[in-house]
Amino acid sequence: MFFVRHDIIRSPQTNYRVIHFNDARVEWEDMSTGFRSVVDAAWLAEMLKVDGWQLEPSYDLAGLQSVIHQTAKDKGWWEKPRTTGDLIALMHSELSEALEEFRTGHEPSEVYYSQDADNAGSEKPEGVMVEVADCIIRALDFAASHGVNLGEMVRSKMHYNNTRAYRHGGKTL
Ligand SMILES: [Mg+2]
Repeated sequence: MFFVRHDIIRSPQTNYRVIHFNDARVEWEDMSTGFRSVVDAAWLAEMLKVDGWQLEPSYDLAGLQSVIHQTAKDKGWWEKPRTTGDLIALMHSELSEALEEFRTGHEPSEVYYSQDADNAGSEKPEGVMVEVADCIIRALDFAASHGVNLGEMVRSKMHYNNTRAYRHGGKTL
């Protein structure tokens, strides 16, 4: 279980919004009173198994980016310096994997599960969109490693795209 900024946690008494988080601690805000406090992340994960407690996940990119980069570090991927060329090539490789999923007959919306030889007992999600998700995960990890907020970059590029001509002046694709 991991938490990101803006996750909403509904308990039987009140609703909380996650403000800050790290591996061990979650700072949350009571949404009715604005009161902030810090709770143990492992305790919170246990509470979410109790009836009446519920997590409404946020898909805020800045929060996801931070969790993704921390996970990559925890799993050892940043113990040695990584080149920009390698990181870009790895994003390409995820899109090639997405194409292979489609070539072998999987529709984009299909998710299926396989046994991962390196991770006995856990089911690995597979499919076109799972590989697209891997590409986004790698992009967010790459951005975090350079201290860039990729969500802000997307907003700024969309702002520019809105100014462009219809079909960019007649492009066919
Ligand atoms: Mg992949």
